[in-house]
Amino acid sequence: MSLPDEVDVVVIGAGPAGLAAATMLASAARVLVLDRESAAGGIPRHCGHFPFGLREFRRLMRGPDYARALVARAEASGVRIETAVNVVRLHPGPRVTVTSDKGLHEIRARLVLLATGVRETSRAQRLIGGEKPGGVLATGALQGLVYLEGRRPFRRPVILGTELVSFSAIMTCLHAGIRPVAMIEPNRSITARWPASIYPWLKRVPVHLSTRIRRIEGHEHVERVVLEGPRGESILDTDGVIVTGRFRPEATLLDASHLERDPATGGPVVDNFGRCTDPSYFAAGNMLRPVETAGWSWAEGVAIGKAMRAGLEGKLPDGERHRVRLVGDAIDWVLPHAVLAHDGAALGRFQMRVSRPVSGRLSLRVAGSEYASRRISSRPERRITLPLPPRDGPLEIVLEER
Ligand SMILES: Cc1cc2nc3c(=O)[nH]c(=O)nc-3n(C[C@H](O)[C@H](O)[C@H](O)COP(=O)(O)OP(=O)(O)OC[C@H]3O[C@@H](n4cnc5c(N)ncnc54)[C@H](O)[C@@H]3O)c2cc1C
Repeated sequence: MSLPDEVDVVVIGAGPAGLAAATMLASAARVLVLDRESAAGGIPRHCGHFPFGLREFRRLMRGPDYARALVARAEASGVRIETAVNVVRLHPGPRVTVTSDKGLHEIRARLVLLATGVRETSRAQRLIGGEKPGGVLATGALQGLVYLEGRRPFRRPVILGTELVSFSAIMTCLHAGIRPVAMIEPNRSITARWPASIYPWLKRVPVHLSTRIRRIEGHEHVERVVLEGPRGESILDTDGVIVTGRFRPEATLLDASHLERDPATGGPVVDNFGRCTDPSYFAAGNMLRPVETAGWSWAEGVAIGKAMRAGLEGKLPDGERHRVRLVGDAIDWVLPHAVLAHDGAALGRFQMRVSRPVSGRLSLRVAGSEYASRRISSRPERRITLPLPPRDGPLEIVLEER
């Protein structure tokens, strides 16, 4: 079937965030969801393990079942989903240019949602030296090989990283009969929060803290890695390296667009309704920041879908949005970037991360007066939140380290 020239809402990305928002909008608008992959469902489609779906369907599901359930729910509510369609350009209007096997096409809409998720940082971007043998994979590539192609690319790999997605890598390995020989973490402690942090111990995967991979060695395939840890250099025999984490939003579309990008998150600048700097564009899910769970991305899609619906009905508040100023060099990023005080905000709390392990006092000031504060002891890649202010004014988030 050919693509339409005009709809009410174009959603770019058929992952949990895009599908949730589309489902929320379907009874009020003609919604078209576009995805460049051959099937809809986003990252969970590649994650053949538990636990997905508790928030959304009140049951424990594997990723592919969860993805299928989200797609079925969206289609049942009247959403049209087109796959193998790559969005290549965003224009004011709003209007998007897409490519598919039928060539280039332009689609006009009243609103556009960006829900394009994240991508992983490669080995080269992580500056790991050594030879370039086969068997070095990112988690997404490993999941594609294991769950979609039924392959076993190695038998005893090391996993670089200990954030939430690193545990997704352990689960994927165990599913395929692969036994990871170690997790390598450059920081002094595991990045993921409890209870995920005890998972390597439960599965008997040793964790090497304060350790880096200096070199990967091997000819055709990985044979060993050279580690640099608290006791100097050591060699670990292995036949693969899984490079996990250090995600960046899949925001290539922003590069040549008129939308402002936040260099800290890598995603678009948004207000507390998920509106970009052109208010006919919205963003939701991991496109906004690296990286949250499927359940979180889905809930955010629902909330931003509701805000877009209010936008179509002319009920979204307009006016001056106050940009948030960050004080304290350990604060890596904050969302939303700008706030218009209102009861029905889609992003109901500030969400932020730190760039290094910190302890101290975090406070929110509105027009110079403190509105909220909390003590934190946090690490990079852990979620920290603060309430949104009930009144407008210049905003500052201040971190005083102990
Ligand atoms: C390797 C990996 C493993 C993960 N494992 C887990 C896990 O086990 N559990 C968990 O809860 N979370 C996991 N996550 C986090 C995951 O990102 C979220 O679970 C969730 O998928 C985010 O939903 P989303 O809708 O924001 O994005 P995604 O699910 O990433 O969906 C984005 C969609 O946008 C499409 N897209 C991107 N650009 C374009 C374009 N230009 N044109 C058209 N389509 C486009 C993509 O094809 C994709 O389908 C993992 C993430 C990664 C990267």
